Parts: sequence; structure tokens; C-alpha cells
Amino acid sequence: MDKTDYDLVIIGGGPAGLTAGLYAARARLNVVLLEKLMPGGQVAITDWIENYPGFPDGLSGADLVMKMTEQAKRFDLPIESKEVQSLDLSEPIKKINLGDKTITTKAIIIATGASPRKLGVPGEDLFYGKGVSFCGTCDAPFYRDQVVAAVGGGDTAVQETIYLTKFAKKVYLIHRRDELRAAKILQERAFANDKIEIVWDSVVTSINGALTNVGSVTVKNVKTEESRDLKVDGCFVWVGTRPNTEFLPEVVKRNDWGFIVTDQHRETSVPGVFSAGDVRNTPLRQVVTAVGDGAIAAVTAEHYIENLE
Ligand code: NAP
Repeated sequence: MDKTDYDLVIIGGGPAGLTAGLYAARARLNVVLLEKLMPGGQVAITDWIENYPGFPDGLSGADLVMKMTEQAKRFDLPIESKEVQSLDLSEPIKKINLGDKTITTKAIIIATGASPRKLGVPGEDLFYGKGVSFCGTCDAPFYRDQVVAAVGGGDTAVQETIYLTKFAKKVYLIHRRDELRAAKILQERAFANDKIEIVWDSVVTSINGALTNVGSVTVKNVKTEESRDLKVDGCFVWVGTRPNTEFLPEVVKRNDWGFIVTDQHRETSVPGVFSAGDVRNTPLRQVVTAVGDGAIAAVTAEHYIENLE
């Protein structure tokens, strides 16, 4: 194979990418990690993590990511702030378009994570940043002694709703079914919290307000078809995630929901292209599974590169 700029390029600096970087740097591969913003991904904006083993008292997402970054840098992992525009995977030497330049590599690990899914209702985009939010850690403190709505029934919605009650005087948790999807321990905490009122069997049909402030959400009960307005000062949306794959060519196979399909070694449908973490077709999207994925992908990539030589 002709000379390439890198052996391995890791795209994405969340727990999966940082772990892949740690393993690749320790394997002394010619590697770089590209991250469009700051290392951390979604975890960096997670208030508190108490199910990552080794930290019995829990720790903040920002703290965990800082420690992971420090650890990877200790083994000289280069981290560059670059946004990947597109990939050319038509040849064994892979080309990565960074806008201002193109770099070449023998292997790639895609660890670009996932982003919050939207509701797609009127007012959601209009009031984004003015009462509509996808990030409790970022925006909950703005709602001290106010009333807010939270939408969703999964771990994120319930955990973040509990966090919201540290600030807001009341939170309506609006869920489309009569049963939450979240882990039982989170459900128990939500049910025991008298600042939380769960609005069952209901969907938000619009987010309303005047100029720069949310004033209410319209909710429709899906069983009775009745609609009503809940007076709120803000609306947090936590209805799941979608994979960050906009830059990926079609040749990298995805599942029906757009998540990257890999084999058990984290190799995608394209030889030499691997994937790790939330962007992958994984049964569990947690920090603990992302780091495991990152390690497997890096070791598989190392073997792939060795076999090329
Ligand atoms: P999720 O588990 O996919 O839950 C999404 C929730 O939003 C579901 O309750 C779903 O309702 C609801 N929903 C989806 N689309 C909707 C729509 N258009 N309108 C109204 N409601 C809608 O997503 P997540 O809570 O973000 O969690 C993602 C992953 O991260 C999961 O694997 C989760 O376990 C993990 N996570 C773990 C922790 C933790 O361990 N502490 C914390 C946060 C996240 P249905 O239930 O009816 O489908």
C-alpha cells in the first residue's frame, strides 16, 4: 500500500473515540482523533453519572470526559479540532475531506455518537434556546422556581426531569404511554418526587409563546383525543437520539433507524472502516458500552493495519 498520512483516523471524541484513541496510541499507531467541537460528546453535558464502574460516588459527565481525555493525552494521542465533511472509501487508501484539506489513512473508526431527536411540532424550532431545550445540565438553572414541561419516558427524560426539580418548582413529565420506559430505580425516584406530575398517554402537539418566551404547551391525550394547554415557562425534549452520520457515504451499511451496522469486531460493511459507541447498531447506549466498543474497534483496526503490511 502507498504511504498514507495516518494509519488510523478516529472520528469523534466521546467515550468511544477517546477509548479507541487510548488503545491506538498505546499500540503506537500513527493515529489522530478528529472532533468537531470539544472532546466529550453527549456525556460532557450529562449532569451526573452513577452507573460507570469505578466511581462509587458517581461523577459529572464533564469530569469523566476530562479524565478520559487526560488519560489518552498521557499516551500522546493527538486530538484535532476538525469537522469531517465527507469520506471517500472507494479505494483501500481512504480519503477524509476536512473542508480545507484532504487527509489519507489506512483505517477509520467512526465514533460520532448520536444527537437528540426532535418532536417535530410547531414552536419547537422557533423557541429553541428561548424556552425549548434538549439539555438539562445546560439550561435547568434558568428555571428556578418556574414551571416546566419535559417530554419523554426513557432514562434520559426521567433522570433529567429529576435533575430539573432541583431548580423548577414543578415539572410536568409528558409521556405518550401509560408506562415509563426508564429503569425502575429512576421511575421510583420520579414517583416519589412531589414536584413531578406525570401526564400519561399524552403527546405535545405544539409549543406556544409570545416573541421570545415559551408560555404553554398543548398536549393531546392519545386515548381520549382531548387537548389542553399546560402553562409552562419552558419545555425540555428528551425523546431519544438519532445517529450522527450525515458525512457518511451510503456504502457504509446502516440499519432501519440509520445506526451503523458492524460485526462483533466492530467492522462495518467497508473493510478497514470500524465503528464504536452510540452511532453503532448497539443494544445499549451507555458510557460503559461505548468504551468497550472503542477498545474492540481499536484492536481490530490494529490487526487490520498489521495485515495490510
Ligand atoms: P430512549 O430510551 O429511546 O427513550 C425515548 C423516549 O421518548 C421513550 O420513552 C419514547 O416513548 C419517547 N418518544 C420517542 N419518540 C417520541 C415522540 N415523537 N413523541 C413523544 N415521545 C417520544 O432514549 P433515551 O432516554 O434518550 O435513552 C437513550 C439511551 O441512553 C438508552 O439506551 C438509555 O438507557 C441510555 N441512558 C441511560 C441513562 C442511565 O443509565 N442513567 C441515562 C440516560 C440515557 P416510548 O417509551 O413510548 O417508546
